[in-house]
Amino acid sequence: MLEIFLPNEHVKSIFDITPEQLKSKGIKGIITDLDNTLVEWDRPNATPKLISWFEELKKHNILVTIVSNNNEARVKAFAAPLQIPFIFMAKKPMTKAFKRALRQMGIKKEEAVVIGDQLMTDVLGGNLSGFHTILVVPVSQSDGFMTKFNRLLERRILNWLRKKGMLQWED
Ligand SMILES: [Mg+2]
Repeated sequence: MLEIFLPNEHVKSIFDITPEQLKSKGIKGIITDLDNTLVEWDRPNATPKLISWFEELKKHNILVTIVSNNNEARVKAFAAPLQIPFIFMAKKPMTKAFKRALRQMGIKKEEAVVIGDQLMTDVLGGNLSGFHTILVVPVSQSDGFMTKFNRLLERRILNWLRKKGMLQWED
């Protein structure tokens, strides 16, 4: 039953996800979380490394939409300078925002991946919507207020998945 929390892939960081890999799998667009996925939850802007990563994706014609549960001020201040489309207050794991992102990018579900650092929101929401999901290790050890609650549950689910041998990374 907890399999609904199981990501299709798990990687150490978004930088392990390359345009070449994505293209080889027929992926045309990324739906990505913001906080602790792209940068630390309390870092207002993209790092130079992240900006290069976005540029690489763009060169390969891979679309990106940032889908975040955070508020408009946070998400807009981060995404607008990058000229990346975004959806704030997404209410993940509810599926509406994922579908909207897909519609906006004009691609099919099979052509998109959902990337995020949380099982309870990103992976669950992506799985419920039928996307290929990629879990990343949180950029920061600390979390925003709401996330702290989700992490408690997440830790139990991660332990369960690990015990079942469904998830492994050296931490
Ligand atoms: Mg996050």
